[in-house]
Amino acid sequence: MSKKTFNALISRGFDSQLANSIISKGLTLTKLKQSDSKALEKLGIDRLKIESILKEQRPPIPIDTVIKLLYESKRVCCICRDKDRSVVIHHIKEWHLSKDHSEDNLVVLCLEHHNDAHTKKGQSLSLTERQIIEAKKEWIKTVKCVDALTILGLSSHDGGRWDYFNHNRIFEMFLDKSLSNTDYKTTHRVQELGLINEIGTFSVKDSEKTQFYNFGDGHILYYYMKELFNDVLKTIPLIDITDKFNKEDIRALLTPGKFIAFQGGFYFKDLSSSNEGKNQRRLCYYKKDGVKLEFEFDAYEATSNSAWGTHLQGKKVVTPICFVKSVVEEKGEIIIGLSCLAIGSYFLEHQYRQNDDNLQLIKAKFSSYFDEDVDDL
Ligand SMILES: [Zn+2]
Ligand SMILES: [Zn+2]
Repeated sequence: MSKKTFNALISRGFDSQLANSIISKGLTLTKLKQSDSKALEKLGIDRLKIESILKEQRPPIPIDTVIKLLYESKRVCCICRDKDRSVVIHHIKEWHLSKDHSEDNLVVLCLEHHNDAHTKKGQSLSLTERQIIEAKKEWIKTVKCVDALTILGLSSHDGGRWDYFNHNRIFEMFLDKSLSNTDYKTTHRVQELGLINEIGTFSVKDSEKTQFYNFGDGHILYYYMKELFNDVLKTIPLIDITDKFNKEDIRALLTPGKFIAFQGGFYFKDLSSSNEGKNQRRLCYYKKDGVKLEFEFDAYEATSNSAWGTHLQGKKVVTPICFVKSVVEEKGEIIIGLSCLAIGSYFLEHQYRQNDDNLQLIKAKFSSYFDEDVDDL
């Protein structure tokens, strides 16, 4: 698996371009270990790394740390932020002195800035430890909300819509973050209609209808809620795991308390017989390659009749935004217990899914809105 090889090489001091060129030749770490220094030299690998591969004197950086670091910095150098440059993982306090492989001591740098970090200019280094630490902090902060913005981008086209909201949780976040609804297009109108109160949350009573928005001005209230949720979403350090749905990445990136987004073909199943009013419990899950995502939600909080009766039924490609409650590994399967914030439907296809050859084949075959790459329970 090339991603595995990539991480293994990066953890041994390779830069990303060299790692990719080795992978493109069909080589893996095991194969490199089996060859000799001459052959490795031919591949453009320098002496230091050849030794580290053949002798493994320096232990590699733990893969979990590599995955987290590369994810948090989006594989981009924190000094120049140039995404086209090959990058390498650098030890802020040199390895041979610190023997420290912890994330705090590591940073992603391009080759030029890596060189600067090791070159003396007069008394001090061209790029000092302090400069690197500051730049890393700034860059990680900047990219934290990139995934949330990507999801917003996928949602904001004509057909895209939010089919479910966990209203209480979203309002809680809206209030916690002291966000303001004054710039929303619909605030004035929903205020006039008496649908929201002075703090911006709903003042509509729950009743025995199929779904909450099933009343005359429900669609206006939905629009208001959508604006509010999009605002909340922008503040969430979301981890989009759509292109990271494998045990290794999931183990490194998901811990309770994190927020995730994932686009895929989910199954929906009614857990309660009631189809009116609150507490219409519905189960939603996705399972593939030994990883399972699952959550329950109240279908009463669906945002339209079609959401309630069609989009959130059976098996559909959706994009839920969730909070990780638990990560359990059982009999070789990782089960991620989630609490759902919102479910998006008919979003633009995730760029990674578009690149998936398998999916292209399936689409050519079925051309429906179903996703065939999901295991049945
Ligand atoms: Zn750089
Ligand atoms: Zn270095």
